[in-house]
Order: sequence, then C-alpha cells, then structure tokens
Amino acid sequence: MKKYKYLLLDVEGTIVLDKRYTPVPGSVRWFNSLGKKGVKARLVTNNTTESPEDLYNILRKKGFKFDKSDFFTCLTVALARMKRNRVKSCLAFAYPGVKRYLRQNGIIPLNSKKVDAVLIGHDPTVTYKKLNTAVGAIIENGAKLYTLHRNRRFVDENREIVMSSGPIAKALENACLVRASLCGKPDRRFYLSCLKGWDVEPSGVLMVSDDPFADLVGARKIGMATCWVLTGSQKDRSMVKKIPEKHRPDYILESVVDIPA
Ligand SMILES: [Mg+2]
Repeated sequence: MKKYKYLLLDVEGTIVLDKRYTPVPGSVRWFNSLGKKGVKARLVTNNTTESPEDLYNILRKKGFKFDKSDFFTCLTVALARMKRNRVKSCLAFAYPGVKRYLRQNGIIPLNSKKVDAVLIGHDPTVTYKKLNTAVGAIIENGAKLYTLHRNRRFVDENREIVMSSGPIAKALENACLVRASLCGKPDRRFYLSCLKGWDVEPSGVLMVSDDPFADLVGARKIGMATCWVLTGSQKDRSMVKKIPEKHRPDYILESVVDIPA
C-alpha cells in the first residue's frame, strides 16, 4: 500500500468501535504518531448524537490529540447551510444534545408543522406521528428538508447494528417528492470543505472509513484514494462486489492501524 501524507478519517467504526467511543485497539497511539511522521490527518464525521463540541471533548478524553480545525462534522455544515437559508425554526429528528446545539446557535427546535425546516439525524424516539408532522411541515408549510447524512446503519452503545437516519430521510423524500439537502459525507461539497487549507489534490488524499458504500464511493467520485476498514458495521469483504468497479475501495484493511505512516 502506498504511503499517504494526507488522511481523512471517519470516526465511528474507523477510529472508535461504537457509541461508547471505545477506541479501535491501537488507534490512539497510531493516530497520535501521525504528526511526528509528517502525516496530516483530519477527522470527518457524520455523528448526529452529540453536539460537535461534546464529540470533540469525548474524543480528546479517549486520548486522540487533534485541533478543532482538523475536525469536521455534518452538524456544523448543516447549521451554516440553514443559517444561509434564513432558517429560524426546525423540526429536528435528533438527540437532545443536537437540539441544544441548534438552540444555542439561533435555530429553535419545535415539534410543529409551522417550521422553516425539517432536519434529519438519528432519533430513536421517531414515531409515525412525528413523521407525519414532518410531511405536513414540508407539504403545507414549505419547510425545506435537510439530512445530516444518508447512512444506513451503525453500531450502537450495546454493539448492536441498528438503522441509521438515511432511511428516514429517504421515506420523507418519497412521501413529499422532494430531495433532501445532504450536509455530511458523502456530499461533494462537504468533502471539498474538509480539504481546505491543505496544499494537495484530492488524489493525494486517502479517505478511510468503515462504510464502503456511502463514504468511500463519494470520496472516490471526487478523486480521493479510499480505504475500507473492517472495524465497523460492515465487515463482509464480499460486499465489495455490490459496488460498481470504478467506485470500489483501493484498499481493504482489517484496521486503521494497518495503514502505513
Ligand atoms: Mg463510520
């Protein structure tokens, strides 16, 4: 495997194993040694269960050393995009920490049809009623639909594979005949914003993730090299056959610590 000087690293399933943010064995030491070897690394996450500030602090506490400027989350992008579109209120499918983050930043989360936007993140309290409120907001109130990502599954705090928020966004798109604005990976704009300030072409960057379908196909489309690691919710190597050949990962490794640096 070629050595890369620039790495984008997914968080869940890649450097940590689950929603308890247990580091992948050896990953803290591996990650913290990159700087000394002249390798630049950034964390790019579609986490929708913590505020960006909380997740930053959790990962620092687990031992990963990095600056805030090297930490990119779908939530910061969603906030910026909603502000640009003058969204003042939203029906948020999200954890309390995320709603708090929105409120602190000037967007009021409301459980009502009378909102400017519907924001989809992971929400284990989702009900048919809440989905219908979202449908009403979009159809009757003209609310714009944003999704933090389109991930299908993740590994929860009990190490169970569970449904993520991508299928919820898909259901609302289908019901309302709209297309959600995608804020996180694998959105092209999101990836390009993660490379800002680095003097490198996308082809010189290796994107590492446990999700070969969404994360890595999107990275590949903008020309990055890609590496699938088998520490997350998708571990069956043969699944690669389901991906069109030109979008398949360049490398498949057991763990992020196997990446030479
Ligand atoms: Mg992941």
